[in-house]
Amino acid sequence: MASQQKMKLAVLTSGGDSAGMNAVVRAVVKGGILKGCETWIVREGYEGLVRGNSEAHHVKNFVPTLAGHVVTDADPSLIHNLRFGDGELLRDGTGDHQSGRSLKGRYIVRVGWDDVRGWFAEGGTLIGTARSKAFRTPEGRLAAAYNLIKEGIDALAVCGGDGSLTGADVFRSEWPKLIADLRAQGKITEDQAAKHGHLRIVGLVGSIDNDMSMTDLTIGAPTALHRICEAIDNINSTAASHSRAFVLEVMGRHCGWLALLAGVSAGADFIFIPERPPHGDPWEDEMCEAIQRVATFHLSLEHRAMGKRKTIVIVAEGAHDASLQPIRADYVKDVLTERLGLDTRVTTLGHTQRGGRPCAFDRIMPTLQGLEAVNALLEATPETPSFMIGMCENKITRVPLMEAVAMTRAVADAISAKDFTTAMSLRDPEFCESLEGFISTSELTQDKQLPKHQRMRVAIMHMGAPAGGMNAATRAAVRYCLRQGHKPLAIHNGFRGLLDDSIHELTWLGVDNWMARGGSELGTNRTLPDVDLGAVAAKFQEHNFNALMMIGGFEAFNSLLILENGRRHYPAFHIPMVHLPATLSNNVPMTEYSLGSDTSLNALVDACDSIKQSASASRNRVFVVETQGGKCGYIATMGALAAGACMVYTPEHGMDLDLLRSHVKFLKTRYALDVKGKSEGRLIVRNEASSSVYTTEFITKMLKEEGGELFDARSASLGHTLQGGIPSPMDRARAVRLSLKCMAFLEKHHESIRSQHPKVKQADPETAAVITIQGSAVKWVPVQEMVQHADMKNRRGKHAWWGDYKQLVEDLVGVQQMSGL
Ligand code: ATP
Repeated sequence: MASQQKMKLAVLTSGGDSAGMNAVVRAVVKGGILKGCETWIVREGYEGLVRGNSEAHHVKNFVPTLAGHVVTDADPSLIHNLRFGDGELLRDGTGDHQSGRSLKGRYIVRVGWDDVRGWFAEGGTLIGTARSKAFRTPEGRLAAAYNLIKEGIDALAVCGGDGSLTGADVFRSEWPKLIADLRAQGKITEDQAAKHGHLRIVGLVGSIDNDMSMTDLTIGAPTALHRICEAIDNINSTAASHSRAFVLEVMGRHCGWLALLAGVSAGADFIFIPERPPHGDPWEDEMCEAIQRVATFHLSLEHRAMGKRKTIVIVAEGAHDASLQPIRADYVKDVLTERLGLDTRVTTLGHTQRGGRPCAFDRIMPTLQGLEAVNALLEATPETPSFMIGMCENKITRVPLMEAVAMTRAVADAISAKDFTTAMSLRDPEFCESLEGFISTSELTQDKQLPKHQRMRVAIMHMGAPAGGMNAATRAAVRYCLRQGHKPLAIHNGFRGLLDDSIHELTWLGVDNWMARGGSELGTNRTLPDVDLGAVAAKFQEHNFNALMMIGGFEAFNSLLILENGRRHYPAFHIPMVHLPATLSNNVPMTEYSLGSDTSLNALVDACDSIKQSASASRNRVFVVETQGGKCGYIATMGALAAGACMVYTPEHGMDLDLLRSHVKFLKTRYALDVKGKSEGRLIVRNEASSSVYTTEFITKMLKEEGGELFDARSASLGHTLQGGIPSPMDRARAVRLSLKCMAFLEKHHESIRSQHPKVKQADPETAAVITIQGSAVKWVPVQEMVQHADMKNRRGKHAWWGDYKQLVEDLVGVQQMSGL
């Protein structure tokens, strides 16, 4: 710990900017301070490292003052670091006039707690980024090493793309030689050489393309996907109004992730990605046939007025054909116009994809990764490899940096060698599954249909409150069913609707526009099947259901349990049955993710950004924001983390007077420490069921009273706005992936039950299961096993995997440290 406390760490952003880089810098700085490190930022990426600080402008020991007292530089406490900044130093680039700190001629800058305050909501990178030619040269790296040693820095967190991470690794492997050269040139002392023998490096992947191997997601990619989907959703309405085709060019030189995920999430008709060029020779025929097939199929089967009125084709920037000839959006447009007679327009999204406010995921993930990066730096030894912080499903991971870079390069090499099978095999499983998902939901073919005896009548039902992604999951299931020869049957309004025979067959075109639709197209209901289990069984039999998919929250889980228990008495329930969790509360046991929870978090973040802006305008206002979520504090906690709230109240942790007292103390201290005229609005997030006594109204009044001259308080209830309007791209893409897994599950178990003797047909308990995400894996959990992990009374899981994040929310604003002052 002694050596840990001495660690001086710097963070830089490099390469192309991406949303979420500011959250990384904030997390590394705050995480570093919390672990007792001294924290620095490097402006303008590696270029800043090479330039360093000119002696003329070197302000070595800025002496901060704290509420009138001088704080010495030897004080490692949070409070010392807090007064090292006021949030403006880096934001406007002019420096902090009050303290006399200036950025002129200084690229490596000591920063404190408040320098990175409120950075969440801003896109790009506030510390600047650059592509540095100088750093590619040995002389440049020698200068960079000297500049770091001059400031005593021995740990570096680099956030950038594969080029930046390669640069980091080159720097680290060269480090002993650089030290020897600096020593030989007499630039550093023997003591400095000994003290800086080892450079600790960690990489975080900031890249909108999601082009890095060994991580599911890169920082900024989810926000870029948001921007693209917003654009496509807007285009969809005009395309449908005019019966037009649109060709969209999106970013991605060597990686088709954005094009692919946009294709899946927005329900495009055809996509071009570098990893898998179209098979057709020529590809123009393949594209035209695929688009034509949909049009003629519907003309023959459905009413003209209901015919497909829009066509969306997405082209990745780096798309090419099988012989590596580039495929350009303009050319695709010409083909669609000339060969199919479609009124076609091209939209190139360009830099709009990079910009804008980070989505919820690009605030939470970089925060958790930034904190993990600090841990990796603290634990680094000369023997350990440099790590890259990644993400696998829902788990933050550490992987050897150079292995990830090498694998990423291998994809580009495989593409150059036209070895597309290898290129796809080097992409992560989620990428490959998304591609399968796109094909299954966009390609209309009857060639893949199963033999008649394997086909199913699949009942699909929505349960509980609407959640983003329910319709997308249904669309995917319907299209998969039709491809395989199954019959997808919608049950409207849950079990009530079933009893009223509100059932109808869904069609390929009928679900065409469902990807971007919020709410529930099937209608939901909270009635459980035990309202009349016998009648429900009779309806299962009457409609000859072979499989059931329920999309919903705790009610769906509960219903599945009731149906599985009912198998003892009713043979009609001896069919495979699945529950796909979809609820903004994310309260289904054992799964870390439910459809709709991402949409809801984004709605919460949007609302909180606006509220915070209003609170900041009045300088010293605290807003108590109330969220839905029932007895589960997930949305409140993750929302607080994503919105940078000061504290969060949840039913799991409860509330008492001691807690409120310490929070009031924190707020008083915090507002007293704010630089005059630079106070900001602050948020407290409270789940609706956290306490029946300490209500939102009570807390607001209490804070008003206690705040006195220091701060004022207001409340805001987000209510049903959290169900979100348009589902987020993440919810849509996951809906497709998980829904198709559900279909595969139903097919597999239908086959095993079908092959039994008709008189003794028995479905095993594992054929009634819930699809869950646990850490880095998608797992099926039989509903009977699930019930052991459920708190049925409070309608949530017994274990809240996100429980520790409540503490993290408070740590990131320094509640404990400041309320103790
Ligand atoms: P993006 O994905 O946006 O292109 P990137 O990090 O891959 O981001 P690059 O331009 O490849 O962007 O790299 C950023 C910087 O990293 C370069 O300008 C250079 O300073 C440094 N760098 C890249 N490769 C190396 C290398 N092999 N050796 C030393 N430095 C490097």
